[in-house]
Amino acid sequence: MNILLIGSGGREHALARSLSASPLCQRLFIAPGNPGTAQHGTNVALNVADHQAVIDFCRVMTIGFVVVGPEAPLVAGLVDDLTAAGIKAFGPSKAAAQLEGSKAFTKDLCAEFNIPTAAYRRFTDAETAKTYVRNYGVPIVVKADGLAAGKGVVVAMSFEEAEAAIDMMIGGGLGAAGAEVVIEAFLEGEEASFFALCDGANAIPFGTAQDHKRVFDGDQGPNTGGMGAYSPAAILTPQLQARVMLEIIEPTLKGMAARGTPYKGILYAGLMLTKAGPQLIEYNARLGDPETQVLLPRLNSDLVEALLAAAEGKLNSVSLSWSDKAALTVVMAAKGYPGSVEKGSEIRGIEKAEALDDVIVFQAGTKQDSDKIVANGGRVLNVTALGQSITNAQAKAYEAVARIDWPDGFCRSDIGWRAVERERG
Ligand code: ATP
Repeated sequence: MNILLIGSGGREHALARSLSASPLCQRLFIAPGNPGTAQHGTNVALNVADHQAVIDFCRVMTIGFVVVGPEAPLVAGLVDDLTAAGIKAFGPSKAAAQLEGSKAFTKDLCAEFNIPTAAYRRFTDAETAKTYVRNYGVPIVVKADGLAAGKGVVVAMSFEEAEAAIDMMIGGGLGAAGAEVVIEAFLEGEEASFFALCDGANAIPFGTAQDHKRVFDGDQGPNTGGMGAYSPAAILTPQLQARVMLEIIEPTLKGMAARGTPYKGILYAGLMLTKAGPQLIEYNARLGDPETQVLLPRLNSDLVEALLAAAEGKLNSVSLSWSDKAALTVVMAAKGYPGSVEKGSEIRGIEKAEALDDVIVFQAGTKQDSDKIVANGGRVLNVTALGQSITNAQAKAYEAVARIDWPDGFCRSDIGWRAVERERG
């Protein structure tokens, strides 16, 4: 069948690579894609926000399956519109994508179905919220209800910080996303990500990962979209994973089905591993970026078959096989990221890096400029390596990074440090 993939980041390059490797995939189109996805299919300059244009393209190119990468088109209801037009699509409906689109929605679902998460209250009035914080104490966490591109969460160590966050969010600093805030208890522990593939009624595990949000070594500096990741996350032992399925993922699926909005797609649980057990910090309604870049290279099974089974409600018949190898990805970003960056600097040496065994360079913010690849965004490359251990994958990834000649880029030099320390024992 012909497949259309929506998105343009490193996640979509990794998806394009795995989708195009399936015997079920005849032609792969990517909208809008990037020079990396173009290695695996045909990029098309579709306006993804124009759902009718996407539907028209699917009809003309006889697309049998659409895979949606990022959250924005899911929250905008692209899967609903494609389904209504009779086109099969992978990803949750607009109503089900509320698990990512609204933190208040997710917290209420957790409360109703007894899913472990931090205690919380919802507020639309700043003064009431501040009084609550004064009575509760600090540290405390203030979150904008809606999507805020990573800027909607403040872990406040003081009353002043909490109050400033409340004023900024309810005062309109994040637009409509902050009109309501969720204030929740501060959880202590190590964070890890757990992924599940869901078909509305059933879920199967889809791997674990840990990422690095801060821009500089030692987890210093401002938050980013992610500076690197590795998989598997050994801290999520098989026993803990079974608990996450039983206590978090399965009740979520039951709850969503009971509400008449069954969840189909990838459910990406951000977890805090506390002394009392795994607690849900947040849900994302899609694969992570850069986590996909370490999950998919480890998947031995046919990705198209798995995603189709999820979209068709037939996950019962699927069991996935994963490589024993570990994967680690280092994000190379343009200098200045996560602040403003210069575009257009030339990147050389991608082929030299990929000449190493088990190394893949996934492209994100890049652009083809005649025969050159140039930087075209903040996060630009995901230099990914597989190895017998995270330590081994880390060494290989940094060997590959050293082969990339891009003076205007930078990366962290300690991706995977927690896992490497753990492996050292
Ligand atoms: P993302 O960019 O991952 O989508 P987000 O903006 O949706 O993030 P969350 O993942 O909910 O926000 O929170 C961001 C970070 O804030 C978490 O990764 C975690 O480090 C911290 N955090 C969130 N909630 C809590 C909590 N209750 N206790 C302690 N830390 C928390």
